[in-house]
Amino acid sequence: MTSIATLGSHCSLQVLKGAKDEGLKTILICEKKREKLYRRFPFIDELILVDSFKEVLDDKCQKKLQENNAILIPHGTLVAQMSSEEIESIKTPVFGNKWILRWESDRVMKEKLMREATLPMPNPVSSPKEIKKLVIVKRQGAAGGKGYFMASSEEDYNTKREQLILEKVISKDEPLYIQEYAAGVLAYLTFFYSPLREELEFFGVDQRHESDIEGLARIPAQQQLNSQKVPSFNVIGNSPLVLRESLLDEVYTMGENFVKAAKRVVAPGMNGPFCIEGVYDENAKFTSFEFSARIVAGSNIYMDGSPYYSLLFNETMSMGKRIAREIKNATASNELDKITT
Ligand code: AMP
Repeated sequence: MTSIATLGSHCSLQVLKGAKDEGLKTILICEKKREKLYRRFPFIDELILVDSFKEVLDDKCQKKLQENNAILIPHGTLVAQMSSEEIESIKTPVFGNKWILRWESDRVMKEKLMREATLPMPNPVSSPKEIKKLVIVKRQGAAGGKGYFMASSEEDYNTKREQLILEKVISKDEPLYIQEYAAGVLAYLTFFYSPLREELEFFGVDQRHESDIEGLARIPAQQQLNSQKVPSFNVIGNSPLVLRESLLDEVYTMGENFVKAAKRVVAPGMNGPFCIEGVYDENAKFTSFEFSARIVAGSNIYMDGSPYYSLLFNETMSMGKRIAREIKNATASNELDKITT
């Protein structure tokens, strides 16, 4: 029997609940400090206790996963805590395309893939000297927005960067990525591409709540001006959103363009869940600043099914369950190699 394994964090509860609902065995790779939390959930069949998630690379852990015929579901914690080389060296079959995770982590590659997919993007700013209007300064990888800051001039950039270095939020030699700030309504668009059915599904939309940029917006301008703190974009949670129906056609087009581009640049393409992240401006024009090439934590909102999936499935379907369904279907038709790398 196939089993589903994932790291205990991010969206692991949803992933394993979905797998259990589909009748698969569930395994959690769990840091010892979180054992108590995860023991609360009866749908987790087995815990592999580790001191650090990196142990997933050790023979001992991989052997255990192999004995269980496990498929590893990658999520944000895997991308944030392991290098691309480490992820690519995982011997356990990884759901989706582990090679595309490098394109998510590396800013230059990320921008290249987004251009290939013709996603409308904010202009990158090549150096602090070139800052002419409001920009957002980002760190590499899935840092969850921690240590990001906004700047409106080179001087502003230098002051804030130095402050964050002093506060040990970022390091001195850390390469930072500067991008024009895009204002509007945040929308994180989640899709699922099935290589078995060669079909793209639109799953849903979420918004991220980020501290302390949101906290700052709750205080009057007078106090904001007095605040010396550099606000960051650390994700605290997510909430649901539905789009004007007239926007859906373009949403599907963006998803399809992304799938086609990924097929061209990083075989076997964008299989499984992914997310295109951006904002809608006052003309309902979408600008995308990011993508995630795997399940996003925003899908946790829809553990009981999303509005758009209730249009496609006559049953409650979470993203975790959709992944497990794909694995079940591929097992039945002997096509696991099509959906894992
Ligand atoms: P990211 O790591 O790129 O997903 O960015 C984290 C957060 O920063 C996002 O959820 C947005 O709130 C914000 N953000 C990132 N890029 C931009 C941008 N170009 N314009 C406006 N906000 C942005």
